[in-house]
Parts: sequence; structure tokens; C-alpha cells
Amino acid sequence: MPILPLLLLLTSAPPSPADSVDVLVRGGTVYDGSGGPARRVDVGIRGDRIAFVGDAAKAKLSAGKTIDAAGLIVSPGFIDPHTHSFDGLPNISEERRKNTGALMQGVTTVVTGADGRGPLDPAAVLAEAERLGIGTNTYTLTGFGTVRLRVMGNSSAAATPAQIDSMRALIAGAMGEGAFGVGSGLFYAPQSYATTEEVIAVLKGATPYGGVYDTHQRDESSYTIGLLNSVREAIRIGRETGLTTNIGHVKALGVDVWGYADSVLALMRAERATGHMVVADQYPWTASGTSLVASLVPRWAESGGRDSLKLRIADPATRDRMLVEMRENLRRRGGDSTLLLTGGGAAAKPYVGKTLKQVAAEKGAGAVETALDLIGGVGDMGVASFNMTERDIETFMKDPYVMTSSDGSGGHPRLYGTFPRKIRRYVLDKPVITMERMVRASSGQVAEVYGIPDRGALKEGWFADVIVFDPKTIRDEATYVEPEKLSTGLRWVFVNGKAEVADGAPTGALAGKGIRKAVKPK
Ligand SMILES: [Zn+2]
Repeated sequence: MPILPLLLLLTSAPPSPADSVDVLVRGGTVYDGSGGPARRVDVGIRGDRIAFVGDAAKAKLSAGKTIDAAGLIVSPGFIDPHTHSFDGLPNISEERRKNTGALMQGVTTVVTGADGRGPLDPAAVLAEAERLGIGTNTYTLTGFGTVRLRVMGNSSAAATPAQIDSMRALIAGAMGEGAFGVGSGLFYAPQSYATTEEVIAVLKGATPYGGVYDTHQRDESSYTIGLLNSVREAIRIGRETGLTTNIGHVKALGVDVWGYADSVLALMRAERATGHMVVADQYPWTASGTSLVASLVPRWAESGGRDSLKLRIADPATRDRMLVEMRENLRRRGGDSTLLLTGGGAAAKPYVGKTLKQVAAEKGAGAVETALDLIGGVGDMGVASFNMTERDIETFMKDPYVMTSSDGSGGHPRLYGTFPRKIRRYVLDKPVITMERMVRASSGQVAEVYGIPDRGALKEGWFADVIVFDPKTIRDEATYVEPEKLSTGLRWVFVNGKAEVADGAPTGALAGKGIRKAVKPK
């Protein structure tokens, strides 16, 4: 299956420098994704490629359409390495396939398969997604969680040697179809039941292909092994499988680990000094987005899945044991006023937009008792959990190996606002990082870490994923109360040479492609 797209890629040679282009973006301030300073150059697009970067007047270039980019910033389209935009592809709605919220942030490529839930058949998934149409490009990570669920269900047991062999073979199969690496979400059940050794043994299926081990790590806080031991585990898994380690949405979650950003970065730096690449990505928000169960309920209570959890909630002795641990989990996250209920099924509607503290007061019950009643009654609910400090966020952001990601998911403004927010808040209003660094951390660096070919830079012959935005008006509009407001400031967004955003408005062009890694096992 990957052979045909590969041949197409090889036979469609990049165009030579042109004397005419379809679209000329003229006179903009250009950050090319390399991290270098801005240049005043013109960018020409022909077909699906960048055909010209330079002085168009001097080159006497003619253009079908000219965009006056004076006063505007031109850069490669952003690549988002931690998203849930296309989870469930190809079986998602056309609205989701359009991915308008990402496009209006300047994002032209998103990963599919964060948190270990990526597909085992990426070739078929991408082919079908392309047939139906997607608004942004996407590349895949296969998933440790997907294989464990497939082979072991929701079991908390240790994997047998035969099960490890099955899981390893499934990972190898997905890598052979062009996945760029393997994701894990060791914080979540049932992935949390796997030991480090099990994860390493299974991920050796990816070793011959190389790529990235991307993880929502086992502990971003003080839940189990602690933040620093969790980072050490992520590093070790990458080292022993020969994969680049990427710490997904790096953070110091909760009062027990506030101020640990420097220590996390020091561990990463020390490992890079040995020759093993370790990077991270980050979203610029003090609240994480998760669920009541994931944030408060102990993992042992989830063994066997949701039905088993409900039985445990109904059993008074087990319920009491759960409540004790939930009180501790709520404390480390910052207490009942820091959990904002953001979504759930129809029955959960009356509680959306309220804090756990408010709902508990209405019910006249304790906070964790209320949480358990909600889980047992209306089901699990989405929460925004305010558990990070600005200081840690800025420390991570300034590190040259920390990239931008959204981890976009329903109910949290990061799905619609991450990239413009980082530009507005941390580049323009308070210069924590430079625009050069912002663009590089959001495009070229991601492409290099993942090995995504011919994207992430403004170079002649490369794919025309090009964005034009206005530094005067760019900003996130989404809030925790209204998380689905589109960002403003993006004037033009080209995906493979087609305008997905034209003059500030989405076009619904569905110009995205599935990106497959050129597969050659070592
Ligand atoms: Zn995650």
C-alpha cells in the first residue's frame, strides 16, 4: 500500500525556478521556518509547490494572482504534533474533516494518533481520509494503547511473552505502512498497566524503521512515580528502542511539582548530550483538558473498563477506598475550584460551565463525592483543570527543544486558539520568545524531528503550505466559556498550493493530504 504513493512522490519532481507562478505573495516579512531572521522576499506558488522565493520584480516574475503582504508576516504553515482533530478517521463528520479551527490558526498539518491511540492501518486510514477530503494535511503515529487494547482488552494484567510478540508485530505492521513513530498515553488506563519493560519490548517493533516515541507520559505530577521519574522513563523507552523521545504537552502539573520545569529540561539536555535526541511539545495554557475519571479516579478502579468502574462505585467499601484517593488527587490538582466542567453527554448539560466546587455546593455534598455521583450518574465529563504556573510555562517555552502543540480537544480553547495565543501573548505582548523562534518551533523544527519530507520551510520545490498573518490583529478568541470561537488574524492559508483561508475566511477546500513516511527498514 505505501509503495504507490511513494512512487508518485518520486516521479513528481519539484518544479524548476519559474518565470510565472499561480500565486505571488509579495512584499511580506518572511520567516522561513529555519529560525533565522526575517527577510523581505516574495514567495511564489505554482501547483502544489513553492516555485519561487526572492525578488519577484527583479526576476520579472508574472503571477496569476498577487497578494499584497506589506505589513504582514509570511511563514510556513504550522505543524501541530499533538492533536485529536482527526481521531477516529475516516469515520468523522465533514465539519471535523475540514479542521477549520486549526486552519484559522495557520495550522496546515496535524498529527493523527496522539496519546497512544493511533491507527494500526495508517495506509488505509489516510487513503480513505484523502478520498473523503481533509482540510489540513495529516501524518500518523501508531499507538501503544491501540495494540494493548487490541491484544489484551482493558486488562490490568502483565503481558505474556506471546502477547508481547503479537503487540510488537502489530506495531511493526503499522510502521511498515508509513507511520512516523509510536505514541503512548501511559497516564491512561489500560496503558498505565504496562511496565516500562513491556513498553520497550513492544516498541521494538518500530526499531527497524526509526522515528519518534511520543508520549503523554505516565506521571506529569505526583500521582505515581512522579514527574522526574516519568521523564526518565520516557527517555529510557526512546533510548532502548532507538527512537527520538518526544514528551507530549510537557508541563509541571499540580502544586507538588510547580517549579520543576528547569529539572525536566535538565534531564532532557543531559540525555541529548549522550547523542539520543529528546524533545518536547507544549501548549500555552495554564489549564489542561482531561476528564473527571482521568483526573480524579485511581487507575486500579478502571481495570476491566467502564462497567467494572460502575460496579466499584456501587460497592460501598470500594467506593470509600476510591474517595480517599480521589481527595488526594483533587488536592494535587489544586482543589475543587480549579476543575471546570466543560462537556459530556446530554445528561451532563446542566453542569457544563460550572466548577466542581459550584456543583458540590448546589448538591450540598463533598467535592469528590459529587464527582463520583456525576461519573456514576451522567457519565464521565470533560474538565479544564487549572494546574500549571505561568512561570513553568515560560521556562519550557524558552527552551530551544520545546515545540508548539495544541492537544486540541473539545471544551478547551486550545483547540481553536493555541498558535495565535502563543504569538499574541508570548511573542508580541510580552516577548518571552522571538517570532523567529515561534515560527521555527511551530513548523521547521517539527518537520525535522518527525522526518516529514518537504514541509516546514519556505523553500523552492517544497510543498506550498504557506500562511500570511497580520501581527496587528492576530489573536485567540476562544475562551473556557466559549471554546469554539475561531482565531483572528490569519489572512491566507495555503495547503498544498490551494487556499484554505482566503482573505481571512475559510473556503472549505479540503486540500489536505495524508503524509506517509518513506519506508525503508534499516
Ligand atoms: Zn495527552
